[in-house]
Parts: sequence; C-alpha cells; structure tokens
Amino acid sequence: MSKTIEFDYVIVGAGSAGCVLANRLSADGKNSVLLLEAGPKDSNIWIHVPLGYGKLFKAKKVNWMYQTEPEPGLGGRTVFQPRGKVLGGSSSINGLLYVRGQHEDYDRWRQHGNAGWGFDDVLPYFRKAEHQARGADDFHGVGGPLPVSDLGHPDPLSAAFIEAAVETGIPRNRDFNGATQEGAGFFQTTTRHGRRASTAVAYLRPAKGRNNLHVETAALAQRIVFDGHRAVAVEYRKTGSLRTARARKEVLVCGGAYNSPQLLQLSGVGPADLLRKHGIGVVLDAPGVGHDLQDHMQVRIVTRCPKKITLNDIVNHPLRRILAGARYAAFRTGPLTIAAGTSGAFFKTNPRLATPDIQIHFLPFSTDKMGEKLHSFSGFSASVCQLRPESRGSLRIKSADPAAAPEIRINYLSTEVDRTANVEGLKILRKILQAPSLSSYVTEEFEPGIKVSTDEELLNFCRRRGSTVYHPTSTCRMGSDPLAVVDQRLRLRGIGGLRVVDASVMPDLVSGNTNAAVIMIAEKASDMILEDG
Ligand SMILES: Cc1cc2nc3c(=O)[nH]c(=O)nc-3n(C[C@H](O)[C@H](O)[C@H](O)COP(=O)(O)OP(=O)(O)OC[C@H]3O[C@@H](n4cnc5c(N)ncnc54)[C@H](O)[C@@H]3O)c2cc1C
Repeated sequence: MSKTIEFDYVIVGAGSAGCVLANRLSADGKNSVLLLEAGPKDSNIWIHVPLGYGKLFKAKKVNWMYQTEPEPGLGGRTVFQPRGKVLGGSSSINGLLYVRGQHEDYDRWRQHGNAGWGFDDVLPYFRKAEHQARGADDFHGVGGPLPVSDLGHPDPLSAAFIEAAVETGIPRNRDFNGATQEGAGFFQTTTRHGRRASTAVAYLRPAKGRNNLHVETAALAQRIVFDGHRAVAVEYRKTGSLRTARARKEVLVCGGAYNSPQLLQLSGVGPADLLRKHGIGVVLDAPGVGHDLQDHMQVRIVTRCPKKITLNDIVNHPLRRILAGARYAAFRTGPLTIAAGTSGAFFKTNPRLATPDIQIHFLPFSTDKMGEKLHSFSGFSASVCQLRPESRGSLRIKSADPAAAPEIRINYLSTEVDRTANVEGLKILRKILQAPSLSSYVTEEFEPGIKVSTDEELLNFCRRRGSTVYHPTSTCRMGSDPLAVVDQRLRLRGIGGLRVVDASVMPDLVSGNTNAAVIMIAEKASDMILEDG
C-alpha cells in the first residue's frame, strides 16, 4: 500500500533550480517543503574538485548518461548527453563556467510577449543570487548564496589565447557578464576557495537544518497525480516502495530539460497521440510538452604544443600529478581548479549581426572525447560553439516505464544558418590559433589538421566530430502561442497547482552557459510562487 505524506510544496528534482526553490520557499519557516531527488547525496569527492568534472561523465550513480537518437546532421551518430542525477543535479557535474548570456537574449524573451523577463527585469535576480569575488557593481551582486570567482590557475597558454584573439581584432573583455559580452578574456567560475559551488552546496546546505524542509534522495518521481485539471500530489518510488506526497499549494517540476517533459508526459500531460500510444490516460493534450528542444553544439580544434606546459603533461607525469594534488590539498589552487574552460572569446561570424554568435572555450589540455584520457602528447584545445542555433528537436517518452530513458532528438546542424556559423566560427578560431602570441606554443594542428580546409571539408568535420556543450533547454517553453507550455509565471497552461521551473522553460537558448540563467529563473520563480501562495 502506498504511504501518503503532505506538504505545502512538493519539488521534483534537486538540481540547479530545485535547490534554489527549496531554500527560498522554506526560508520564512511558514511553508513546509518536500524536495525529491532521484539521485544520491553529493558525497562523491570528485564533485567538489573542479577538475573532477572529467571523472563524472561516466559516473553512472550521479549521471543519467543519456544518448540522443541517431542524429541525421551528424552522419547518424548518437551524441552522449550527461545530466546530473545527484543533489545539485547538473550543477554538481557541470563545467562550472559562469556566463549569463547576452542582455539581448532576455530582451528577446520579453519581445516575444514574456512580460517580466527582459534584461532589466532579470538582472536583479542574477545579482540577488550572486556573491561576486570582484565586488558589486551595476551588473554584479555580493552577499548572495552563489560564489562567482576568478580562476585559481591562470596559466600562460590561456593568457596567450586572449592575446592572440586581440591580435585578430577581437576586443579584450574583462567581464563577459558586464556591459557587453563581446571580446576575449578569462572565464569566471561558480567556485569558492577552489571548490565547486553547486546549488546543493550554495543553496541546500545552508537550509538543511530547517525543520520545515524535508529532502528525500533516491526518490524517483513516477507520476503527478491530478484532481481534474489540478495537480495535487506526486507519486514516487523509494527503496522499492511507492509513496505519495500530497501538495497543499503546488507541485513544482524541476527535473531539467529532459526529465521534466518526460514526467509530464508520463503523467498524462503532453501530445495526446504519444500518450495514447503508450497507454497513458490523457489529462491535457499539450502538444508543446517536449517540443522545441535546443542545445549548443561544440566542435573542437586540438593543437600540439612544443612545450611541456599543458595539463596533459601534468596528468600524464606521475610526479607532477602528485605535486598538483598536493598543491590543491594545501592551497586549493593549481591545475585541479580548472574546469570546462579557462579563457574564451565571443565574436560575430558576420559583421551584420548585432551580437556575437560564437563562443570559444579554450582549454590547456586535449583529449579525444570529454571524460576520456588526455592525449599522451602536449596539447591544448579550443572549441567553437554557435550561441543561437536555429535547429529544433524533441523529447518524447519511449515507454510508460518511468525508469526508461526518453527519446532525445536535437537535430544538430539542420539549418543553413547553423551549418554556416559553425564553419565560419572554425575559420576565425584558426586565425586566432595562428596569431603571433600563440605561435611559440603551436607545433601543428592535430585535429582536424590543415588538410581539412575547404568549407565543405570543415562542415564534414563538424558532422564527424561535433558534440554537445550540455545545454538542452526549451522543452516546456514559456510563452503564449499554442505550443508554449508554461505562462510568464511558469504555471502550466491549462493545469492548476503546477509549475515547471528549470532549463526547460527558457523560451529559447541564451547565448552563454545555461547554469546561471537557470538559477536566475529559479530565484524569480521563488518570488512569484510566494506571491501567489
Ligand atoms: C557535463 C555538463 C557540463 C556543463 N557545463 C556548464 C558550465 O560550465 N556552465 C554552465 O553554466 N552550465 C553548464 N552546464 C549546464 C547546466 O549545468 C544546466 O543547464 C543546469 O544545471 C540545468 O539545471 P536544471 O535545474 O534545469 O536541471 P538539473 O540541474 O539537471 O536538475 C534536474 C534534477 O532533477 C532530478 N530528477 C530528474 N527527474 C527526476 C524524477 N523523476 N524524480 C526525482 N528527481 C528527478 C535529476 O536527478 C536532477 O538532480 C553543463 C551541464 C553538464 C551536464
């Protein structure tokens, strides 16, 4: 028999968004909150060491490890899609880069009718979340739960990348989250004293002692329970038994861009034909649930370096590896503080564009695939990421079994704009890699290699080697058109007592890394939920 418990709010998913909600909604002590997380506690030590990021790609206890279906634009290859399955969600396994996107992203959301989501509206929430190590200014806040810090390992290669970009005419930019994003500079990361600041660390830990907040790990939500068109409870499985958590006020779905639409579809909210095909009773025919999936793709150039100064040289040398470990243990600095990028650049592939359409992530190491062994030679890499892809995909359940992985289709490179941006981005990146400041660090281009030179060859390289930057969004898109899933207050359209709060509600992808934007969304949602409560 199913055991029933009752709270004011039941939150599904303790990821980037879910941990923010859990903290904010339980803060004044008036509301009782249940936070359900399918994964375990964040006790894996590699979660907390930035470079440990590489160890988490295949850690299946904390990673859903999804795969796309064969991608037509990538020659039928499937693309690995890691997602956090642990307290902190993807913020516990991500690359830690703090990049909010462009002001124009949020003004575009607003321009599409999403009142309250223009840049001036969302900036206060970015600032509220933030504890900026450089201090407060017009764009940054201090005193918030989320620490944002400068790199603990400013290496010469990453600095040379910035100088080389400037030599090609790209402006220097000290703050990608300031007045303008365009330019080359160092990234900032969500870390404190060299340790990862996931939302589990930044938001959940400080709230854990509250007796009105209850956190359940290893608890997989199977279904939202409805009374007519109102969500009233969540059914979840924990240690083999089925339990029901009733929500007096609201059910808040924070499962991320893949799992949130999956849970809604499993619960009878989604495209009616898909639900019927799997024998699921239709609560609401909502064709937009799982529609409009977007992701950032990246294509990486690997360069051989004549000097033994890359991370490959440290990781592959037993003594240097031990010294790096000891330095980190003693001072929390050095190579172990590196994550998914050190320096980078934002530029336009076409002068007619208003804002950059490409982001470069520079890394002082190289590998065939993220999460695999570093190359045995001295090498570094830099990847091209198109910031506003036009390609759209979908997320659909494959089965009525809540434990089965969903069908993920991104349709990378399915439009001409996307194909051209990637090819032009690679050409500009090559110019940077050939600029004077990097010349003493370059032996040769290892991949794709200079033989790959025409536009057609570069596009084929994108198809052969392109992969994700891990930023799926927009599967429960905010808006007011027929395919929009949530309204401007993130309430599910056509259903009461239910909001979606995570990367899936973005009207479209922001031109940056998505974690900061998700945290902002959850900060703003918390205010709206409390106002409506
Ligand atoms: C490898 C990787 C690298 C990345 N690098 C960066 C980066 O450098 N910078 C950046 O800004 N962004 C980065 N991102 C993206 C960023 O981390 C995500 O956009 C963000 O964390 C998404 O937040 P979310 O709340 O939407 O989902 P998540 O953080 O993924 O949270 C969803 C949570 O819900 C849980 N859940 C799902 N379904 C259920 C269920 N049925 N029952 C119970 N629990 C459930 C999941 O286990 C998970 O904990 C990266 C992501 C990955 C995976």
